[in-house]
Amino acid sequence: MSAGTEETDRYEPAHGSGSIHVEHYDLDLTYRVVPNVLVGVATLTVRTREEMREIALDLAGLTVEKVAVRGAVLTRYRHRGDKLVLRFAEEVGDGALLEVSVRYGGRPVPMDSPWGPVGWEELEEGVLVASQPTGAPSWFPCNDRPGDKATYRTSLTVDRPFFVLAHGELVARKERSSATTWVYEERHPTATYLATVQIGNYESVALGEQPVPQRVVVPAAHRAAAQRLLARHCELMAYFTEVFGPYPFAGYTLVVTADRLEIPVEAQGMSVFGSNHLSDDDGARLVPHELAHQWFGNSLTVDSWRHIWLNEGFASYAEWLWSEHSGGESADSLARAWHRRLGGTGQDLVVSNPGPERIFDDLIYKRGALTLHALRRTLGDEAFFELLRAWTGRHRYGTVTTGQFRALAAHRAELEGGPALADRVDAVLTAWLDRPRLPALPGS
Ligand SMILES: [Zn+2]
Repeated sequence: MSAGTEETDRYEPAHGSGSIHVEHYDLDLTYRVVPNVLVGVATLTVRTREEMREIALDLAGLTVEKVAVRGAVLTRYRHRGDKLVLRFAEEVGDGALLEVSVRYGGRPVPMDSPWGPVGWEELEEGVLVASQPTGAPSWFPCNDRPGDKATYRTSLTVDRPFFVLAHGELVARKERSSATTWVYEERHPTATYLATVQIGNYESVALGEQPVPQRVVVPAAHRAAAQRLLARHCELMAYFTEVFGPYPFAGYTLVVTADRLEIPVEAQGMSVFGSNHLSDDDGARLVPHELAHQWFGNSLTVDSWRHIWLNEGFASYAEWLWSEHSGGESADSLARAWHRRLGGTGQDLVVSNPGPERIFDDLIYKRGALTLHALRRTLGDEAFFELLRAWTGRHRYGTVTTGQFRALAAHRAELEGGPALADRVDAVLTAWLDRPRLPALPGS
């Protein structure tokens, strides 16, 4: 499905455009931590998807100083509200390639959203960027919709002695008189909400190299607690690689902020936790949840927020899988306990189309996980886990919809048990995803 569908627009109508695709973001930024001042140039490689006289980018709260375009004649630009609109001298054809450079700066602040502040946020000492779902325009001009994935080069010059992280691989670090320039390259297609910067007084602690390098970036005071919580992280990574297929990125970094955070959040190749999550009972559950997003959300990214259960249902089910594998309560027992709990709550949410205000409703997480458990019980373990690996393999680095998952599940069922099983799988998924009433779990 193209990014420019009506349902996409209905979920976040003010963000992004289906008329363009950004192929690459080159961000050359300087940041002074104490006054919280960000200045720099963002150069976007933009492909048009239709004939157009204007293009609109998302940028909130910062001041645009200059715009230059190669590939078309720019007559004027205006930055009003959270939109930067460029007007050209004549129609630009469908499929044209433009290079758009925006010099901008100011004091970045998080954007308001129904789910609280999102985007660039100052910490006690440093910065955290957690943009899900709509915070990316708080720090760079972008086409802010989840299905429009791009590669990135992020150069950040920041006063010493701060540790500076962005998504992707560190390709250069240059010391200047009082500042250091850190250059990260992200070669995997990445959604704007997963682009990130983390700045703090951190040290980097290796957790292991197999099957991919894993590390925690943490303030010294929280190092021991982080290592305790993450003692089995390599085992977790190996298990997820077995059940979900190959890990999609070059490595994985957990960041722990000195500040307390309400919830952990995923970024590309990275997750961000608050110091409070280290001691929490919840820590053991949140670590597998966040890691699972590297497959479900980051490699396979929803084409529209409508399909959010493909992120959160899968990450929540991953918590149950790890519990069972690591010697805790079994997935079946956790599923039955949650089924009983949800049975007592009002069921008015349609998982496959929850409405824009309810994309982070707890029912998306728990009913999403239960949907997968119902599917597992219908298909059998072997076919279910083959389906998960086929799903992550077929759509690796792409964008996905619920319809695509249902088609693949039906195909897998047909191979396993013919049209009768395919029909049963379809009925199970319709009941769990498209109807508000809580179905019974198969086999109960
Ligand atoms: Zn999640």
